[in-house]
Amino acid sequence: MVSAPILQIALPGPLRTLFDYLPPKHHSHPLLPGSRFQVPFGRGSRTGLLIRLTARSTIPADRLKRVLEQLDPAPLLQESDIRLLRWAADYYQHPFGDVIFLALPGNLRKGRSPSVSKPVGLRLTTAGQAVNSETLLRAPKQLAVIQALAETPEGMAKSALSDGCEASPAVLRRLSDKGWIETCQIEPVVESVPPATPRHKLNPDQQSAVDETCAHLGRFKPFLLHGVTGSGKTEVYLYLIEAVLARRQQALVLVPEIGLTPQLLQRFKEQIGAGVAVLHSGLSDGERERVWQAMRRSEKKVVVGTRSAVFTPMPALGLIIVDEEHDLSYKQQEGFRYSARDLSLVRAQQCDCPVVLGSATPSLESLRNADEGRYHRLSLPRRAAGARMPQLRLLDIRSVHLDGGLSPALLKQLRQTLATGEQAMLFLNRRGYAPMITCHACGWLTDCPRCDARMTHHRQQQLLWCHHCGHQRQVPAHCPDCGSPDLRPLGQGTERIEETLQRRFPETPLARIDRDSTSRKGTLEKLLGEAKTGHYPLLLGTQILAKGHHFPLVTLVAILDVDHGLFGADFRASERMAQLVLQVAGRAGRAERPGKVLIQTRHPDHPLMQLLTTKGYTAFAKEALDERRMAVLPPYSHQVLLRAESTKASDPETFLTQAMRIGKEITGAAAVEFWGPVPAPMERKAGKTRAHLLIQSAQRQALHHWLVKWVPGITALPASRRVRWSIDVDPQEML
Ligand code: ADP
Ligand code: ZN
Ligand code: ZN
Repeated sequence: MVSAPILQIALPGPLRTLFDYLPPKHHSHPLLPGSRFQVPFGRGSRTGLLIRLTARSTIPADRLKRVLEQLDPAPLLQESDIRLLRWAADYYQHPFGDVIFLALPGNLRKGRSPSVSKPVGLRLTTAGQAVNSETLLRAPKQLAVIQALAETPEGMAKSALSDGCEASPAVLRRLSDKGWIETCQIEPVVESVPPATPRHKLNPDQQSAVDETCAHLGRFKPFLLHGVTGSGKTEVYLYLIEAVLARRQQALVLVPEIGLTPQLLQRFKEQIGAGVAVLHSGLSDGERERVWQAMRRSEKKVVVGTRSAVFTPMPALGLIIVDEEHDLSYKQQEGFRYSARDLSLVRAQQCDCPVVLGSATPSLESLRNADEGRYHRLSLPRRAAGARMPQLRLLDIRSVHLDGGLSPALLKQLRQTLATGEQAMLFLNRRGYAPMITCHACGWLTDCPRCDARMTHHRQQQLLWCHHCGHQRQVPAHCPDCGSPDLRPLGQGTERIEETLQRRFPETPLARIDRDSTSRKGTLEKLLGEAKTGHYPLLLGTQILAKGHHFPLVTLVAILDVDHGLFGADFRASERMAQLVLQVAGRAGRAERPGKVLIQTRHPDHPLMQLLTTKGYTAFAKEALDERRMAVLPPYSHQVLLRAESTKASDPETFLTQAMRIGKEITGAAAVEFWGPVPAPMERKAGKTRAHLLIQSAQRQALHHWLVKWVPGITALPASRRVRWSIDVDPQEML
């Protein structure tokens, strides 16, 4: 007798196994991997995804349950999609079922059946187009619908009609009964875009980058596109995508943050039009699912998206582009801690297509890969539109009197720039008024009661606010310790710089662009738009200002504080500082007038700072890589961080010590080193005590094989239940 197959199903949650179920008694669709099933689980039911069919189960037959319902008539995920997710779950040691469900759009996680790919819409029939408005004078609601539809021949979503014209189902039914309206499909949202700016003719550097990549279409090949800011990387991407589309393939473009890459998106929409779909966290579940389905069915050809877009199913994937590949946002720092950049390489390999990592300031990891020939390097050393690279200058602020954070030399340069009608941009990566308040009588500081951190003074909101745990309180009028009224802000945030600038340049319009000033939806876009036209001669902001924007009139850029990057606790601090400096500097002099960049520092002689400002990023990176090699730090070694936190102070360390002990007993432990356990750099955060154990190895494979054996052991430790713990493979921050 042929036994019925067993369905092995992945379920979301912390469990690291697949679950066996019997097939439904009757099924009208084939039981194919990649489709979802509703299954009994505990006392309720859950949605799971079929991974494979097997002949037998380790569970006794009488205890096997039957699936309740097949949710998808055809697989949602193809084998290649599942393979990538499987790889990611294994590499990052995160439960497979959880990985799968995180990769699905929210709607599909909840077991709802997939909605139609396009929302149902309504449009006028030919008879409806001929309706004379006079005939409907007595039926204003029906008239409103007819008029709205007359303006949108391609049709409107029902929801839009009910919102905009208060069209009730009854009104729509009446119109439909008269034969004036009919249902239709609506194209997914792609905002229309003003007429295209003509395509640039590529310069020789851009052309050879395009040619070399195109020569490898249809095969796996990683490229590092190292192009200075303004070198025209976007144009290279566009030509590559065009070549991919000509092969009837799809392209995946990853960007750090949609809101911060308006230019790239605008350019893509102009040139590729309705073929581009956008995926980011700001979408509603429905919008996200529509895009996801359209890509899955190859109805759309190009998706531009943030981190999680790396998992979008694309059956005809022919190219992956990762813009600003060094950006920290590609690494998820919570839960499933994957790197979308690193996964894009795995995906490209699995799909046999090229992957292009683009940046003006590539990560040291990628530079090393290029140096050693694993990535093919493509260079764009010059600005495309002919603008010169800005000049970088260090301003020594060791023994000068700062006025609200600004040195006299900087103030002088600001005056000159403004006098010539040009724009100046000041950059400080710290929002709020001051990072703390102190009592001048006794030295009391605004410590956060829940963290090892100070509470930032936000003057506009009249609040003390901890940026680490969100705790807020009112600004006290007197020192809580000694009662003195002499409380003073210490240090600078953007609000305070704004105040200084307004005092110094009272006549000059100024825009402060940070998370506080742009919290209302649409304000960021509005401010950035106005900033570009030169409406504000003075621009001040946090790193929101640093990324991909093109401000043609900015000729002076000032970076107010870089020093924490030189001596940060994290070994990546100097790399991040250099990337940020060059990203910010890249905003200067992008048009005809040359730009100047001033960097205030108390350590003008710091060797890395010197290299960066005199010889540029490549020289800096070479030196920084040498330091890493000598210290055997990544990319010359590989790390895994085991973090733990608990409200009980001793629990994390107890757990980590036990974890280390069992880790040392595993075969293969000789290939790994243990550092710790040590308290986290911020030991107390949000009321919890935090510690970590760092594991390092020179061999990635050996580390992985050891890790795979270690994680089940950790899970089984009784102490693991008293802490919140997580595994971070290739950690990017030690926080
Ligand atoms: P990046 O992304 O490398 O910083 P962009 O792609 O934003 O640079 O390009 C910078 C500017 O150069 C843009 O204004 C773009 O229109 C222009 N540009 C790009 N390629 C060319 C070209 N081949 N000829 C002239 N201008 C170009
Ligand atoms: Zn005091
Ligand atoms: Zn706090």
